[in-house]
Amino acid sequence: MHYPEPIAKLIDSFMKLPGIGPKTATRLAFYVVEMKDDDVLEFGRALVNAKRQLTYCSECQNITDRDPCYICNDSSRDRSTICVVQDPKDVVAMEKMKEYRGLYHVLHGALSPVDGIGPEDIKVTELIQRLKNEEIKEVILATDPTIEGEATAMYLSRLIKPSGIKTSRIAHGLPMGGDLEYADEVTLSKAIEGRREL
Ligand SMILES: [Zn+2]
Repeated sequence: MHYPEPIAKLIDSFMKLPGIGPKTATRLAFYVVEMKDDDVLEFGRALVNAKRQLTYCSECQNITDRDPCYICNDSSRDRSTICVVQDPKDVVAMEKMKEYRGLYHVLHGALSPVDGIGPEDIKVTELIQRLKNEEIKEVILATDPTIEGEATAMYLSRLIKPSGIKTSRIAHGLPMGGDLEYADEVTLSKAIEGRREL
């Protein structure tokens, strides 16, 4: 099937999104063509603005539209605890639980030697730097319960140990191979409560 070039380009763009194959991309592209002009303009602007106006918080590395982000800036948070997670979506999951009152650190990935992802590819240096500057007493390693997440937690715990700061790993109960962002609030809350020192 030969599409007019603008449609073909739109299909290619949709296919760059996760979970979208050629069929869905084609359906979405034709849908966009039928949308009202204003809606398409607004959609396009939202895409560009999301990319342009968001940055990484210089403290926790979470995605934010102001630096430091609203969590790092909140004086009511407990500044002695840092919860280390893989992705910004994990912060959203933790915040939904409404029990954790400490700070976060977002790694933006996990160690994966098979994929060539080493410590320099995720926000490890930034974390170690924070531990030097801030009054941190405990680092909770809340990376995903996957092989990569576990390896990252072990690596960080070894790295942090000499500093004398307590490191703990969230408890299992989270399904192995699972993703923190999909854990329900009760499971997540129990996982934090039952964390063990490393
Ligand atoms: Zn922050």
